[in-house]
Amino acid sequence: MSLKVRSLFAALVLLSVPFPSEAREAVDRHMHLLSPMAAHRLRRLVGPELYGWTIETSSGATLVSLLDEAGFDGAFALSDAYLVTMAEMGSSDPRFDTRRSNAYAALQVLIHPRLVGFASVNPLIEGAPEAVDEAVDRFGLRGLKLHLANSDVDLRRDGDRKALDAVLERAEARGIPVLLHFRNRNPRFGARDGELFVDLLAEHGELRVQLAHLGGGGGLGRGHGGPAGDDP
Ligand SMILES: [Zn+2]
Repeated sequence: MSLKVRSLFAALVLLSVPFPSEAREAVDRHMHLLSPMAAHRLRRLVGPELYGWTIETSSGATLVSLLDEAGFDGAFALSDAYLVTMAEMGSSDPRFDTRRSNAYAALQVLIHPRLVGFASVNPLIEGAPEAVDEAVDRFGLRGLKLHLANSDVDLRRDGDRKALDAVLERAEARGIPVLLHFRNRNPRFGARDGELFVDLLAEHGELRVQLAHLGGGGGLGRGHGGPAGDDP
């Protein structure tokens, strides 16, 4: 496992260190699965590397070995459906690919009980709400990852907001939490999007939502899709 892979998947460690143990449950402790199929398609799209990271499968075993290195018991393991259904990936059947990615996540957490499986769905694909039901009922997944940038969801577009609302409604009804990569592709992303999201959440009083990466896009600084609202 290269250093770069470690830095990508083990950001949780950096975030966790300064916290006293009683505060740990408030720490963002998510890790990303990458199925062989998703890794293959991602390489086809961008080549062998991404941000200096050699693209390779990230299985449940990969995540557990990183947890061991970091001295952590467990983590949330995220399905890569948000990635394989990204428009640039050119999926010919996003609904089927979503099922396949969520089934892969379910299998990994079945093999590695230290991981808690999160489904994923692109809110803009046909059948997105039903995919949430399927992930809970058939695959036993216990949370939902949404990635507004990869799914190109923009809350300023009415249709996108409705589609997201339908998925949030289903997650709320099933009682599963949502881990949200909130930052999207709009270069004007900022406070207005926060306000729209708060309005949306007001309709879902029972829903638990956590913003991943402090509301940013993965890294924590400028140029890495940093915290929400820090656009130059
Ligand atoms: Zn992440």
